[in-house]
Amino acid sequence: MAAPSVLISPRLSERAIDPPADCQLCPRLAAHREAMRARQPGWFNAPVPGWGDPDAWLAIVGLAPGERGANRTGRPFTGDAAGALLFATLAELRLASGFPAESPEAGFRLDGVFITNAVQCLPPANKPEVAEVHACRPFLASRLRSLPWLKVVVALGQVAHQSSLKALGGKLPKHPFAQNAVHRLHTGYALVDSYHCSRYNQNTGRLTPAMLREALETAIAVGAEHGGER
Ligand code: SF4
Repeated sequence: MAAPSVLISPRLSERAIDPPADCQLCPRLAAHREAMRARQPGWFNAPVPGWGDPDAWLAIVGLAPGERGANRTGRPFTGDAAGALLFATLAELRLASGFPAESPEAGFRLDGVFITNAVQCLPPANKPEVAEVHACRPFLASRLRSLPWLKVVVALGQVAHQSSLKALGGKLPKHPFAQNAVHRLHTGYALVDSYHCSRYNQNTGRLTPAMLREALETAIAVGAEHGGER
């Protein structure tokens, strides 16, 4: 019989906001983490917790840690091309301040924004399996629920869209992914979609800086409908 691709743990309480550094729920990702620790002992190489403003009204959900970005620095989107575009756009929109943002030690801060990923461990080839996204969703859900002022979630890419939608209590067939689409959920949250700001999507033109900015401006407008910032 084939080994299960994820281990379902009864100890995974919905209140566990961040996974332990040695989380073993996804054996493939745990093995990859160990391999990375041997290859790059100075890197973070653990589930990367979300970071940002604990009073955030806006959450941004990416796919998973980038190998040389979050997996190296220990902070989502920090240290790679995806983060460079995301952080610059947030700063333009006055949702962040204090460049440079290339390392967690620098003074960059998010204002009213929290950033996390659908999958918290580095996946090989940047491609988490469906079961791994499912296994990590309780952590995403509990993190989003921990933000008392949260109104809007921006999902970067299809996987983040699907996992965020489920974490927020929405149903997929009713809310398909589309660039700059707004999904108003019965649970009171709004979900805004954008293609992921990965280097690949930037290089191929699937996502331009203007498209990302437009999606974040949509999030700001939707947040204002809900009373804006706290
Ligand atoms: S991806 Fe999430 S659930 Fe899977 S091993 Fe990492 S922290 Fe645990």
